[in-house]
Amino acid sequence: MMIQQLKSKRIAVIGAGLGGLCLAQRLQKNGISCTVFEKDAAINTRSQGYRIRVNEPGRKALQECLPENLYSLFLNTCAASYSGMKVLTTTLESSRNTLVESWSDGVKEMPDLKPNRLTLREILLQGLQAHICFGKELTDWKESESGEVELTFADGSTYTADLVVAADGVHSRIGKEYCKDKKINTGNITIYGRTFYSPEAQKAIARELQEGTSVIIGDRFSLITDFMTFDFSRKETSWDLLSPFSDYFYWAFIGNPQAFGMVKSDFYSLSAEEILNAINKVTCLWHPQLKALFHYADLSSLSVTPIRSSLPKEQWKSGNITALGDAVHTMSPAGGVGANTAFADAALLTNYLISRNSIQTAVTDYEKQMIIYSNQAIEMSLEGGEILHGINED
Ligand SMILES: Cc1cc2nc3c(=O)[nH]c(=O)nc-3n(C[C@H](O)[C@H](O)[C@H](O)COP(=O)(O)OP(=O)(O)OC[C@H]3O[C@@H](n4cnc5c(N)ncnc54)[C@H](O)[C@@H]3O)c2cc1C
Repeated sequence: MMIQQLKSKRIAVIGAGLGGLCLAQRLQKNGISCTVFEKDAAINTRSQGYRIRVNEPGRKALQECLPENLYSLFLNTCAASYSGMKVLTTTLESSRNTLVESWSDGVKEMPDLKPNRLTLREILLQGLQAHICFGKELTDWKESESGEVELTFADGSTYTADLVVAADGVHSRIGKEYCKDKKINTGNITIYGRTFYSPEAQKAIARELQEGTSVIIGDRFSLITDFMTFDFSRKETSWDLLSPFSDYFYWAFIGNPQAFGMVKSDFYSLSAEEILNAINKVTCLWHPQLKALFHYADLSSLSVTPIRSSLPKEQWKSGNITALGDAVHTMSPAGGVGANTAFADAALLTNYLISRNSIQTAVTDYEKQMIIYSNQAIEMSLEGGEILHGINED
């Protein structure tokens, strides 16, 4: 479709998460504007995790979507990169376990990148502020025969769009009802948090963890740690655009809740102290220099989330509504590719919108290709989970 034609279309993106913002950037790079509706009151209203691993396809998609200055800002604000990933036992010896392909170094132009999640989201937000409506929770939609879609929000307001892209994450109703995405609860959880790199933590935490990524294999769960140190001395970086942040260890357990003495009803009601107690119990026999990670943990950062996954799917009847990211393909974080796949979706959908002669054809072609690679990523992520926590037979 001619860019000129697209400029006259009303494009609504639901959700200002990583995927929705990436799409809005990619459209804007081509002079096409869209309106992003986000249910939260602001970008930093809730905690959303700390580090995101951006692999080579994810980085290339970001490069395609972002203007040059923002892509450089992204590269300059990533944590120091190291190639290689250590797999360790709970007593800090090397383990022979191998992990999923997406985590391995293979042949890559550069090692995977590790931005601070809020920082990346703030970068993705740059230049879009005038196009984002915060505090707008989508509650309903209606597609007319002419292809127009009327959106209704929780505050009673409405908006009519020619194309709607649901990028509203794991609980997306459009993903479930329109795109027929079926999600399952895998029965496993992640418990994640961070530990600031204070002089005390530096002294007490094992040297092995003070470089790159480490995976520690436990009984029915694994721990992933990433050392996040940033080069704040870069003069050319526009630090003033970003909320302040500092060096830290990111860590996440992926595993069976019963290994932590947790049951389903607990997940959202546990206090930080209770989460830390559960961690201390399962790690009580671990090497002291590993346990130091939790001794110095930032209590306010602790969080427990059930792991959900979409099931591989077939194409549905395409229309003027589509979806990207977790809304249409939620993946276990064990594969580390959920956000990377959302970036790829954003780049692909825009390319089809520009090159096909109607919105309908662009959406159909996008969905056809997206379903193939996202099905593969879903399966790889589930496999990754089996390696990290074993097969859950509950
Ligand atoms: C612990 C953990 C670690 C992870 N690590 C990685 C990693 O290293 N690499 C990787 O690639 N992936 C990782 N992931 C997965 C990644 O976080 C997701 O795949 C990614 O955030 C999906 O982006 P999204 O834009 O689709 O959804 P989200 O980022 O969830 O954004 C959805 C947005 O929609 C908004 N919203 C929701 N409902 C509505 C509504 N009704 N109306 C309006 N707005 C709404 C939300 O407030 C939110 O802002 C990890 C996930 C977890 C849980």
